[in-house]
Amino acid sequence: MKNVMKFLFVFLLAGMIATSCSDDDKNDLTPKIKNLEVGSGHGHGKENDAKAYIGKDLHLSADILAPNKIAKIEVVFHKEGEHHKHAEKHEEKEHKDKWGHFEFKDYNGQVNAKFHKHIDIPEMVTSGDYHFHFKVVDTKGVTAEIKKELKILEKPHK
Ligand SMILES: [Zn+2]
Ligand SMILES: [Zn+2]
Repeated sequence: MKNVMKFLFVFLLAGMIATSCSDDDKNDLTPKIKNLEVGSGHGHGKENDAKAYIGKDLHLSADILAPNKIAKIEVVFHKEGEHHKHAEKHEEKEHKDKWGHFEFKDYNGQVNAKFHKHIDIPEMVTSGDYHFHFKVVDTKGVTAEIKKELKILEKPHK
């Protein structure tokens, strides 16, 4: 009996490994975001330090793979904790935060894209802990999203 169980277990395990391998690459057409970098600039590790300074620009880059082609890239910044408030105060918030929502269409139609943009952090933005969303939508309407924490800081004093 023990041996039968052992045999069954190995058999099942082998089956699981086999299906998970073949699923991954060939049939998966959902968009993928890799090597996302969010940082205050270029060089000395700034590319991915998750910091931005008011009055300066934020470096953003990512490798995107979208077998069904990119239809839209969206970038959203909001203050930490606004996820909960969002539902109740939706309209109010939309009027208040003019800054924080970006859409990029210049990668549309691409399967493999090397996204690289710099976003200005205007003076009207208040410093603090922010949440950052990087979203890719393909032509079938399938979305891939990465969320990160980001600190927006006052200009460095000189
Ligand atoms: Zn850059
Ligand atoms: Zn968020």
